[in-house]
Amino acid sequence: VIEIKHLEKHFGDLRVLNDINFTIERGKVVTIIGSSGSGKSTLLRCINLLEVPDAGEILFNGQNILKGDLDASTYRSKVGMVFQNFNLFSNKTVLENCMIGQIKVLKKSKEEARAEAMKQLKAVGMDKFADASSTKLSGGQKQRVAIARALCMKPEVLLFDEPTSALDPEMVGDVLDVMKELAKEGLTMAVVTHEMQFAREVSDVVCFMDKGVIAEMGTPEEVFEHPKTERAKQFLSRYS
Ligand code: ATP
Ligand code: MG
Repeated sequence: VIEIKHLEKHFGDLRVLNDINFTIERGKVVTIIGSSGSGKSTLLRCINLLEVPDAGEILFNGQNILKGDLDASTYRSKVGMVFQNFNLFSNKTVLENCMIGQIKVLKKSKEEARAEAMKQLKAVGMDKFADASSTKLSGGQKQRVAIARALCMKPEVLLFDEPTSALDPEMVGDVLDVMKELAKEGLTMAVVTHEMQFAREVSDVVCFMDKGVIAEMGTPEEVFEHPKTERAKQFLSRYS
């Protein structure tokens, strides 16, 4: 679905992404692991056009996004993102959070939007909280709502940036379970995570990033059991 070619991003003199190449295939899960500062968030933000890359190509179903083959808002509705800090609209209820994008971007009627929102909230076990203020929820509940909100837009790809990093440990499992279920249903996902067990279980492809490059890429078996680079070996040894 998404092909990244020779992607580069600098912040001033700092080269944050350097010749990044990989593909997110339909129905597959790509996880991105690596140390803090290696460029993982910047990569996802570039894919979602929250940052403008300095060079390279992003092809979405063959259309060159950086050349404007597809307008940014249409593209963004097809490539959703779930953030570490949830980014819910705090002045709105859970249900309103899930309806607003459908009404504003997809131009759905309120009734249609509500029906879809309730369906997605139910799927993440949050339908009972539909009328609650989003500020009243726990972190794990907020993240499940954020996932439901993203799914309401019927994305072709969903990007996750450390979706469980801001959660209390007892909430992490609930969110990972939702994500595992989505993977099983065939949703195309790219997930930045420090949850190595999850990455091992769910990924089709694992990318290990180090200092702005993909230092290693392969199946979980290849990357976790037989890392080729010293840098990956060192990084992974911290988790075992
Ligand atoms: P973490 O695991 O801590 O989330 P990361 O792999 O997501 O790290 P990035 O957030 O992509 O790393 O940051 C990569 C580098 O780019 C870091 O050195 C960071 O300080 C720098 N950086 C990120 N965003 C900006 C920005 N807007 N302006 C300047 N430098 C930035
Ligand atoms: Mg990050």
